[in-house]
Amino acid sequence: MKVSVIGSGYVGLVSAVCFAEVGHEVICVDIDRKKTEQINAGIPPIYEEGLEDLLQKHAGKKLIATTDYEFAVNKTDISFICVGTPSAEDGSIDLSIVRAAAASIGKTLAKKEDYHVVVVKSTVVPETTEKFVLPILEEASGKTAGIDFGVAMNPEFLREGKAVQDFMNPDKIVVGAIDKRSGNLVSELYRTFKCEVTRTDPTTAEMIKYANNSLLATKISFANEIGNICKKLGIDTYEVMEAVGKDVRISPNFLNSGAGFGGSCFPKDVKALIGKAKAIGYPPVLLESVIAVNERQPLLMTEILQRKIGNPADKKIAVLGLAFKNETDDVRESRAIPVIAELLRLGARVSAYDPMASENMKRIFPSIEYCSKVSDALKDAEACLVMTEWDEFRSLDSEFQAMKGKTVIDGRRVIKAKNIDYEGLCW
Ligand code: NAD
Repeated sequence: MKVSVIGSGYVGLVSAVCFAEVGHEVICVDIDRKKTEQINAGIPPIYEEGLEDLLQKHAGKKLIATTDYEFAVNKTDISFICVGTPSAEDGSIDLSIVRAAAASIGKTLAKKEDYHVVVVKSTVVPETTEKFVLPILEEASGKTAGIDFGVAMNPEFLREGKAVQDFMNPDKIVVGAIDKRSGNLVSELYRTFKCEVTRTDPTTAEMIKYANNSLLATKISFANEIGNICKKLGIDTYEVMEAVGKDVRISPNFLNSGAGFGGSCFPKDVKALIGKAKAIGYPPVLLESVIAVNERQPLLMTEILQRKIGNPADKKIAVLGLAFKNETDDVRESRAIPVIAELLRLGARVSAYDPMASENMKRIFPSIEYCSKVSDALKDAEACLVMTEWDEFRSLDSEFQAMKGKTVIDGRRVIKAKNIDYEGLCW
């Protein structure tokens, strides 16, 4: 089939290369010309395991990128909206980019004679596809949804860092469509995937995505709350949660306590669902607590730091790990951000190391010291805070001896070094 993918970020580009890999012809659309040029040259603008190989295999053949909506929509049967849906100031969802993308597709549909299906893959709060995107498409095209064109919602569940693998081997595929014809066409795209397609309506599909992410975020905040209580009681929370996770009703995943969840999805999506719940008059007490625990968690790191070394003003503090999790260069909502902000507020000199995410963090904190080696970040540091579970941190040992003080505060339970003054966040 012929597919256009609107927005070439983590979700758009990964979806595009994977659709190409299973045999579809794909046109990527992005407003960022530089990104489209990189994609056409086979250079991924983001890091994801396996992405470069697939892009080099398909770029210029089964996959091309353009800034031209008209070209892309006219040459394809289905368009996937994969643009960002950030948080607005009050935490609710900001749909301005979705609005722009839908209007651009709609304008092109006005002149297109063949049937076309528009699919929302961006994470959007329940009712957005039918009550927001669909009317924009109708207005811009002068056509009628369900007759002249189709509309569907197909949420994405991939994890950054394992995005290609997750897209190719999904646990679930959800297709919510306004009618059978739209749903059939979208489901057909996934025909070769070894996964049952859950068919539903767009609003239910939207809610499935939010319920999914909110439950995972809740598990993490729950594990963190238990971890904080365990620490006060001198109990090893990891031993507790390992046993708890043996219950098949619970599963062992997402029970690691630590500095909390970050990334472009969990914080934003839970806040968006809170915003939607409030807008319809429901007070989302549990979801608000999930966010409250998550916002307090990284600041416990700097509280421990102050307890151990006193006022960190003018002291060199090393931060190991800037990405919101390992195997990605993404720093969006990374728990390192509030920690670095607090260290700077307290007057510390911050030296940071991350194997992939330094360039992205430089946009947020341009003036801290970025090191290309762990040893440079640690040299003469008074203390070290570990914020990301990078594998390479697990084997650190003698490197800590270059520090002035030997205080290491671990937010991810990865450090196994000896002869240091170690303290875990919740253990
Ligand atoms: P992203 O910011 O990485 O990518 C968005 C892309 O859209 C950018 O390349 C941007 O240049 C482009 N863009 C902006 N305006 C445009 C326009 N008018 N027309 C065409 N392109 C435009 O975002 P992302 O992380 O890929 O997330 C996209 C959506 O998918 C969000 O709703 C997000 O919540 C959801 N999602 C993300 C993940 C994830 O792990 N990143 C997982 C599941 C779902």
